[in-house]
Amino acid sequence: MKILVAGGAGYIGSHTVKALLGEGFDVVIFDDFSTGKRDFVTGGAVIEGDLMDAAAVRKAFRTHDIGAVLHFASLIQVEESFRDPQRYYRHNLGTAMNLLEAMFEAGVRRFIFSSSAAVYGIPQRQPITEDHPVNPYNPYGVTKSMVERILQDYDRAYGLRFVSLRYFNAAGADPDGILGEMHDPETHLIPNILLSLLGKKPVLGIFGTDFPTPDGTAVRDYIHVTDLAAAHVLALRSLLGDKPSEFINLGTNVGISVLEVIRAAERVTGKPVPYKILPRREGDVPVLLASREKAERVLGWTPRLSDIETILRTAWAWHRKSV
Ligand code: UDP
Repeated sequence: MKILVAGGAGYIGSHTVKALLGEGFDVVIFDDFSTGKRDFVTGGAVIEGDLMDAAAVRKAFRTHDIGAVLHFASLIQVEESFRDPQRYYRHNLGTAMNLLEAMFEAGVRRFIFSSSAAVYGIPQRQPITEDHPVNPYNPYGVTKSMVERILQDYDRAYGLRFVSLRYFNAAGADPDGILGEMHDPETHLIPNILLSLLGKKPVLGIFGTDFPTPDGTAVRDYIHVTDLAAAHVLALRSLLGDKPSEFINLGTNVGISVLEVIRAAERVTGKPVPYKILPRREGDVPVLLASREKAERVLGWTPRLSDIETILRTAWAWHRKSV
């Protein structure tokens, strides 16, 4: 039995493929390499194809004996989702629907979905537990919550078993130095800091210093991508063990401000980070913190590499070598 990993050549997908291979799973990567990288394929079979092509997706299930699906392939830029929501709805819903339909045709009923803290919208309380109301603010977050709703309906109607993993701020790089974070355009804080240190981007912009936080900059919950990958393996084991469907936050409940990330980057790299202060980015909330109680209780997950120094050390090692 093989595990189909849609988007397995992307940032989080490739780290998860590495973790799955390390635990002896047989993996099939389905990726169109639009944002995924060939260098990020560390093993398994590869199908180069478009998840919007329903026939190609069905063919994957006829060619391989698939037992479960992990779906990472998604458009992820919040700002772009405001400008071009049609693209987001079509892609993020269409890819999930095609995968689910092809799964059912092949009799596969186990699905792990890459969701996001964006489903919660403007937080009413911190840390955020999974029973916090789902009320996304940006179109990207709406696509994630719509897929979650589809999953619930398919669970009831067709016996689908899913784990929807709501990521907080994925960061860092594979400690072996093979994989890392690279988006184009890059919008995330940590790669932007490192790119500015490598002279690949002009000075870093800080989006807002007037938040109601101790130093005025926004506080986020950073989780190392290797810890995130480990949680996917645990979620897969839970589904293979016939456990019920779940929504689970993946974060650490440790808040770090933008200025604290910058100071930590200066300590780790030994270089000063040049920055300028810019207005807030649309939709950025002051604080986002995950309760990790459910991930620990249901999956037996513990973060091991998610302290900010380790995140920055692994990210810097990869960026210095690869960018
Ligand atoms: N941020 C920033 N400069 C950048 C990128 C991000 O100040 O070049 C801030 C952003 O406003 C947010 C935090 O850093 O408060 C984390 O942003 P990121 O895009 O990495 O993740 P998000 O929390 O938006 O998903």
